[in-house]
Amino acid sequence: MPNRPSSSSDNSAADTFDLQALRDGRPVLWAAAGAKRDTVPAADAGISALDVEATVARWRRFAPLLARLFPELREGEGVIESPLLPVPALQQALGLSPEHGALFVKADHGLPVAGSVKARGGIHEVLEHAEGLALRHGLLAPDGDYRVLAEAPARALFARHQVAVGSTGNLGLAIGVMASALGFKAVVHMSADAKDWKKARLRARGVEVVEHSGDYGEAVAAGRRAAQADPYAHFVDDERSRSLFLGYAAAAPRLAQQLQGAGRRVDAQHPLFVYLPCGVGGAPGGIAWGLAQAFGPHVHCFFAEPTRSPCFLLQMLATTPGYGWLGGNPSVYDVGLDNRTEADGLAVPRASELAAAVAGPLLGGVFTVEDETLFRHLALAKAAEGLQIEPSAAAGFSGPAMLLGTAAGQAWLERRGLRAHLAGATHVAWTTGGLFVPPDEYARFLARGERAVAAAGR
Ligand SMILES: *Cc1c(COP(=O)(O)O)cnc(C)c1O
Repeated sequence: MPNRPSSSSDNSAADTFDLQALRDGRPVLWAAAGAKRDTVPAADAGISALDVEATVARWRRFAPLLARLFPELREGEGVIESPLLPVPALQQALGLSPEHGALFVKADHGLPVAGSVKARGGIHEVLEHAEGLALRHGLLAPDGDYRVLAEAPARALFARHQVAVGSTGNLGLAIGVMASALGFKAVVHMSADAKDWKKARLRARGVEVVEHSGDYGEAVAAGRRAAQADPYAHFVDDERSRSLFLGYAAAAPRLAQQLQGAGRRVDAQHPLFVYLPCGVGGAPGGIAWGLAQAFGPHVHCFFAEPTRSPCFLLQMLATTPGYGWLGGNPSVYDVGLDNRTEADGLAVPRASELAAAVAGPLLGGVFTVEDETLFRHLALAKAAEGLQIEPSAAAGFSGPAMLLGTAAGQAWLERRGLRAHLAGATHVAWTTGGLFVPPDEYARFLARGERAVAAAGR
């Protein structure tokens, strides 16, 4: 079974986690040791279920405006959503036996406008900011028609304001495209990992792209500094933003409807496993938190990171007894890793402390994936189901094998009393990006993936 990690990556429990394997860049699973927390600690961060409802309502208010601004949203009446896809052929290719549940893909790789999961958080934050400005300036009534925001007075207001962000690429795409569509000045600070086509796509829309030679953390810090000096600038802070987080969390009620529509029950006998590619932790953290609101004890989220950028795993470890020496907010460089990965959306050296505080206690665990495996699964997703995803978006596909095929995963299933209920389980791999990858770039990804598939004997 090609996606089964080597036995050396089998860590028994969180307290005996094999740190050396992590340092060596081998795939590992860190599984939560204690009982599952399903009461949500977000009150500490000032976030409640009511905020998710408010976010869903905000998306609804903006839908008519979005349909006007983006031709691709007209047919769907301004709704930015993705389907939940059954993927039986991919499930077979990944070696997940039907006795262990059914695999689905939550297809955010095709989200319109932004082409990635960042549409949820990034676009939401730009909309919330625009709404606040327009209300304060009396250009919008709270229950009015939001399409006035596409007209001259609102555009003149937005043109005086700047929206800025630091990004490895996809967040910049979401924020830059939405901000410029509303008429804001948009500035995106890109880290060195950001792909050229993402920069070109933004510049073509009039977005100012500032290129930094450093990593994601440095691009964010530079953007934050530049925006602080300008009272007309709003900085979208990927490491701290509540609005981003809520935009992601609002995915949960929609997924609940989709699972119901697909006839998938979620309860004690029918657990829901969700595998989420993780960079700084904001997107998967917001989604995991939203899912905990929607499904309580019956949802089990796992974050997926590249073997060389496991910042969220380290953050979880740092709060585990015996790992205090890692410090409060460790970076992957601290343990000798280099943060180099083709999964540019996940190339983050240090996790968001907000995301870790709010979503960390809810997680089943965090696992890591080698780049070769990302490419192999990218190719399998294409061959089996015709899905076009980017490497970052393939990280979740290792989830079932990490859970079922490692000692750490088996021990976790045992601790949580889930082994008897696998037949009724639903596994959701969240594919987080891909729509706008240029054809030549995708062809290279696919060729590399196909070589990896051949090398693995399939
Ligand atoms: C940003 C991103 C993620 C992860 O989101 P974070 O908020 O950084 O954890 C996953 N996949 C893709 C394709 C992304 O662009």
